[in-house]
Amino acid sequence: MTDKTFTTTQTGTPVASDAHSLTAGGPDGTTALHDRYLVEKLASFNRERVPERNPHAKGGGAFGEFVVTEDVSQYTRAAVFQPGATSETLIRFSSVAGEQGSPDTWRDVRGFSLRFYTTEGNLDIVGNNTPTFFLRDGMKFPDFIHSQKRLLGSGLRDADMQWDFWTLSPESAHQVTYLMGDRGISRSWRHVNGYGSHTYQWVNAAGERFWVKYHFLSQQGVVPMFADEAERIAGQDADYYRRDLYEAIERGEFPSWDVYVQVMPYEEAKTYRFNPFDLTKTWSKKDYPRIKVGTFTLNRNPQNFFAEIEQAAFSPGNQVPGTGISPDKMLMARVFSYPDAQRYRIGTNYNQLPVNQPHAATVSNYMHEGNMQYHFNTAEHRVYTPNSYGAAGGPEADPARGVEASWESDGALIRSAATLHSEDDDFGQARTLINEVFSAEERQRFIETLVGQYNGLTVPAIQERFFWYWGQVDQQVADEVRALAGLPIAQAEPVGIGE
Ligand code: NDP
Repeated sequence: MTDKTFTTTQTGTPVASDAHSLTAGGPDGTTALHDRYLVEKLASFNRERVPERNPHAKGGGAFGEFVVTEDVSQYTRAAVFQPGATSETLIRFSSVAGEQGSPDTWRDVRGFSLRFYTTEGNLDIVGNNTPTFFLRDGMKFPDFIHSQKRLLGSGLRDADMQWDFWTLSPESAHQVTYLMGDRGISRSWRHVNGYGSHTYQWVNAAGERFWVKYHFLSQQGVVPMFADEAERIAGQDADYYRRDLYEAIERGEFPSWDVYVQVMPYEEAKTYRFNPFDLTKTWSKKDYPRIKVGTFTLNRNPQNFFAEIEQAAFSPGNQVPGTGISPDKMLMARVFSYPDAQRYRIGTNYNQLPVNQPHAATVSNYMHEGNMQYHFNTAEHRVYTPNSYGAAGGPEADPARGVEASWESDGALIRSAATLHSEDDDFGQARTLINEVFSAEERQRFIETLVGQYNGLTVPAIQERFFWYWGQVDQQVADEVRALAGLPIAQAEPVGIGE
């Protein structure tokens, strides 16, 4: 940023000292308020922190390159996914519940936010290392996060609160099963898969629409870290994952992920056995196998963590022509919520920061001014559209370029749970995960993790509901946890189960 070898004020004036304040009355005198450099330095320091993300506060990230190795042009017209295309990428990994400075190796879902700087604008796939989520309606999201954060009085995190919310929200069971399994703590961020989790839409050059799910499969493999090691590392090195990623890239060990999509023909969404817009469900790979798109590799660390990672502002609404969102209620809520969070954290013009502005496309519109405007239009550019000044007066929207996702919606305006499809329930896919995917060793570690979680509970109603919840997933699991926790195998009616 600067090649100066001498210190200056923020406006470039050389300063006389880095160490001594200006004092009236000699060396032991009173500090002068007009020491503008001292005042500027302290004022700047006081303003260094922006509000941390709530949630996903703790994270790290890097830049890289995405290369399309296959031909998926029959499904999308997006330039970023055309054969041979390459794009700069940015990724931010994170934990969900912990604050800045919280240990990386606490059991948690990991954020997996991926940006493609494409020639048609930024495409952000803001996902997790899990293919599902705890909820299916954004209305419940603040309550969910509150339950994973801290109690009002003590300021402590609280197992009762976490399990109270989960067991009163049975749609969480699939994601909680995933979280309590081996994938709840990973060897490193390099060793997680990423998932777009939501269903998105692709549109091809002929205007045909498809529903897609993104999968980012780690070339390093998916490697767990077991609970005892994770606990030890949490005490020794809170920044274990951040350090691992940074140091691997510095060593020239560039981690890669293969990009796949599951593709569902548009019409099949109506009749698929699971509601395909329900974020708590996966699409079975037996029904919709993964199709490879390409590979991205992380090869460049940030030069400035704050400027390039802390201020990186992702949004699932950042879609490009040929990609788009779906009628997933969580996704639609996030399309509002993410940019709103960044306007609050960083400011109105956060998209003008170097990390957030498009790198391979240009910005051209009639929005302007506001706090910290940096880019501006020339004097010839009008401040309104339509105008009579032709190209000099500013841009005109082009419907042929601005291809958006679309779907039919002719029902009533109501508040309701989403439609259940033939095999939809809250517990079935969690049961499949335990009984058909976990190995015997993974299942045993999962049971032991649940026993540990149970031991953290103190409220009888929540303890009972814990067993009701796992009994719904799989009675054998509930019984094994009871036995290992030293409790009799007795069934109790759930207390306070709500919709
Ligand atoms: P498959 O047998 O084709 O897929 C099972 C998938 O489970 C694997 O491909 C792997 O996903 C993932 N997996 C493996 N070990 C674990 C673990 N310890 N914890 C969590 N996930 C693991 O079956 P289906 O596609 O029919 O899905 C069956 C179940 O698998 C689902 O109910 C869901 O719980 C889980 N699953 C499904 C995914 C999907 O998109 N269909 C993705 C991930 C999990 P991967 O290859 O992505 O690492």
